[in-house]
Amino acid sequence: MKLLVINAGSSSVKFQVFEMINDLVLVSGLIEKIGEETSEIKFELENSGKNNSVRVVEPIKNHKEALQKVAGILLDKENQIIEKKEEIKAVGHRVVHGGEKFKETAIINDEVKEMINELSSLAPLHNPPNLQGIVVATEVFPQAKQVAVFDTAFHQTMPAKAYRYAIPNKFYEEFGIRAYGMHGTSHRYVTKETAKFLKSDKLKLITIHLGNGCSMAAVRDGKCVDTTMGLTPLAGLVMGTRGGDIDPGVLIHLGKKYNLSVSEIDKILNKESGLKGLTGLNDMRDVLELKEKGDVKAKLALDVYTYRIKKYIGSYAAILGGLDAIVFTAGVGENSAYVREASCEGLEFLGISIDPSKNDKRAKGIRVISEDENRVKILVIPTNEELEIARQTFSIVQ
Ligand code: ADP
Repeated sequence: MKLLVINAGSSSVKFQVFEMINDLVLVSGLIEKIGEETSEIKFELENSGKNNSVRVVEPIKNHKEALQKVAGILLDKENQIIEKKEEIKAVGHRVVHGGEKFKETAIINDEVKEMINELSSLAPLHNPPNLQGIVVATEVFPQAKQVAVFDTAFHQTMPAKAYRYAIPNKFYEEFGIRAYGMHGTSHRYVTKETAKFLKSDKLKLITIHLGNGCSMAAVRDGKCVDTTMGLTPLAGLVMGTRGGDIDPGVLIHLGKKYNLSVSEIDKILNKESGLKGLTGLNDMRDVLELKEKGDVKAKLALDVYTYRIKKYIGSYAAILGGLDAIVFTAGVGENSAYVREASCEGLEFLGISIDPSKNDKRAKGIRVISEDENRVKILVIPTNEELEIARQTFSIVQ
């Protein structure tokens, strides 16, 4: 069965087509700068045996035109993906916020669309373009089932004591103010890969997703019991441009003392903090390079970044009542031996100890980097959110 996976942003659409028999990617691409004169279409044909990358610059007015372009790429005889649209049996959509309504992947109907729209108040930057992607995909691929895979769904198994904030009840009851967590598709994917790799569903697990955004999850027997992000993706770990946990009093202080507006504080927290706030650079590779040159600010930024991860490892080991495995994933987690080492350093008393020679080795695929004799397996697992969306979509439409 062939499936299309769509991740629609405000001015971009990412897409991949999977042949689900063997999880094969037939094409993956990105349309950017939608609405501008210089929109960019990039895609790679992955089944052709040759390195087939295409890049075209041309104006694309809106998301509907973008999806029509995608359909054109899939139907192009030269690309050998599909001969007619009906071969795409389903379209799996990444949807950022499913609130408390969506605990699982859902087949999209009018009611689901309405709910995704209502949840826009919790994810104003993401849910509206995600919904737009759904609407236009339904028009362009009317014969395909449309499926929504929610970033928050994996975290819906958290108990109330983990997701409730200790603020007046009415804010939860009237406005749904609670922790929801993000990156759920990635945490779910690496959780399942870990279970397969360690041949057990009964694991106490900490998954650590370190990309531009960063989050951790505590997982018991495949189910999330806590996560670091909250109502929004600002909570928890230090990230590229977000600082994670902060005393909320700081925000009141900034507002009162420096007369900053809510939108100015929003900008500081979302765009100017994290690695960027501490070093001026948001890309981990650049920060690591600066640290190598002896830069004191870069060293401090990495200390704050990895100290926060370590603090959550300890706290999640406590709430899980023990630990079987830790998983590092996403851009930083998969690639930075330094960050992994510094985050786990000094945790031998918990059975956590990295083998430096395994940690330093570059490799593709799943690998173990813990010392053999140690209790807790430490794994590096490349995440694949698109494949997880495809698998979720496949299992619900079957
Ligand atoms: P996104 O969250 O946008 O999906 P990624 O998972 O690709 O992003 O992660 C991006 C982050 O990964 C960036 O901070 C980048 O610097 C970092 N990264 C990528 N490769 C390396 C590397 N070799 N060493 C350290 N960090 C890396």
